[in-house]
Amino acid sequence: MLIGVPKEIKNHEYRIGLTPAGARELVGHGHQVIVQRDGGRAIGLTDELYEKAGASIVDTAEEIFARADMIIKVKEPQPVECAMLRPGQLLFTYLHLAPDPEQTAGLVKSGCTAIAYETVTDKRGGLPLLAPMSEVAGRMSIQAGAHALEKAQGGAGILLGGVPGVKPANVLVIGGGVVGINAARMAMGMNARVTILDRSLERLKYLDELYGDRVTTLYSTADAIEDCLRYADLVIGAVLIPGAAAPKLVSRTQLALMKPGSVLVDVAIDQGGCFETSRATTHQNPTYEVDGIIHYCVANMPGGVARTSTFALTNATLPFAVQLANKGTQALLDDPHLLNGLNVHAGKVTYEAVARDLGYDY
Ligand code: NAD
Repeated sequence: MLIGVPKEIKNHEYRIGLTPAGARELVGHGHQVIVQRDGGRAIGLTDELYEKAGASIVDTAEEIFARADMIIKVKEPQPVECAMLRPGQLLFTYLHLAPDPEQTAGLVKSGCTAIAYETVTDKRGGLPLLAPMSEVAGRMSIQAGAHALEKAQGGAGILLGGVPGVKPANVLVIGGGVVGINAARMAMGMNARVTILDRSLERLKYLDELYGDRVTTLYSTADAIEDCLRYADLVIGAVLIPGAAAPKLVSRTQLALMKPGSVLVDVAIDQGGCFETSRATTHQNPTYEVDGIIHYCVANMPGGVARTSTFALTNATLPFAVQLANKGTQALLDDPHLLNGLNVHAGKVTYEAVARDLGYDY
C-alpha cells in the first residue's frame, strides 16, 4: 500500500501523523511511505530522517492526497483537505465529527473511508488512541499550573514542592482517570501534597493501592470539592463523562472560597470545561484571571509539546496503521476495536452517535 503523510495545516499544529520510526516499520512490512516536505521539521523530524527510514519526500499535499491509498494525519482534515480525499481512500486521524457538521459533510461527499483515532477501542473498554494525549495533558497540567503559580504570572508565588522548612503546595486533582493519574504522579514527583477526587470507588481503590499514603483519595461530592477548594493552591479539572459535556463542578461563587492567586487548570475544557468560569485559551495566551484566581484552559495542550506528543501518538497508532496497510478495509472486519473507529465509509456516516447528532441515516 502507498501511505501518505501530509504536513498538518491547522493553525499552530506542529505534530505530524507518523514518526520516521513508524515509517520504517511500514516500509519493513513492504509498504511505501510518502511524506510532505518539511512535514516534521518544526519538531526536529527532518526530511533526511524520513528518507533514512525508507520514506520518500514529496513537495505538496496535493501529490500526497492524489497518490496515497491511506492518509495518516493528526488533526481532522480541513476543508481544503476534505476536497482532496477520494472514494476508496483510507483516512486515519483524529476526527471529532459530532460537533463538526461541515467536516462530516465533506467526508461523506468525498466517498473516503475515515477512521477516527478517538473512537478506536481496546479490550478493557478504553480508548487507546486518545489515552496518549491524556497522558501528555495530565503531565503537562502540573508544569503549566506550577508556572502559573509564579508571582509574575499572577499566581500566589508558591513553589509546588516547598523547600526544607517550608511546607509544600496542596494540589487537588478532580477526576482520577488517565489525565488525573498522570497529573497526580507529576505533582507527587515535585513533592506537592496531592488529593484526588473521583466518582468511581473502584478507581479510588486502585489509586489508593498504587500510591498508599502519598495521596489522599476522596469520593467526589459537592461537599468534598468545597472543602478541598479552601486549601488547594492548584486545582486540576480532569473529569470526563463519556459522550457528554463536562459537568460544572466549581461555580463562580465558590472561587471566593479559594486563596487569592490560586490556580485552576481545566484540562476538561475540550469538553466544555468543569469550572463555571472556564473559557478556552491558546498556547499563545494561556491564562486569565477571574476574581483573583488564575485560570489555564488550553484546549489542545498536547500541541504545546508537539514532539513528545508525536512520538506518543505514533506509538499508539502504529499497530493499527500496520493492520490497515497490510489488509486494507479487511482489517476493520477482522478487528472489532478498529471497526469502532470507522466514522464515515463510502458516502455514509457509520458511527451511530455522529449520525444521530448530525441527522444522518445510520
Ligand atoms: P478518563 O475517562 O480516563 O477519566 C475521567 C475520570 O473522571 C473518570 O475516572 C471518572 O470516574 C471521573 N469523573 C467523572 N465525573 C466525575 C466527578 N463529578 N467528580 C470527579 N470525578 C469524576 O478521561 P481522561 O482521558 O482522563 O480525560 C479527562 C478530560 O481531559 C476529558 O475531558 C478529556 O477530553 C480531556 N483532555 C483534554 C486535553 C486538552 O488538551 N485540554 C487533552 C487530553 C484530554
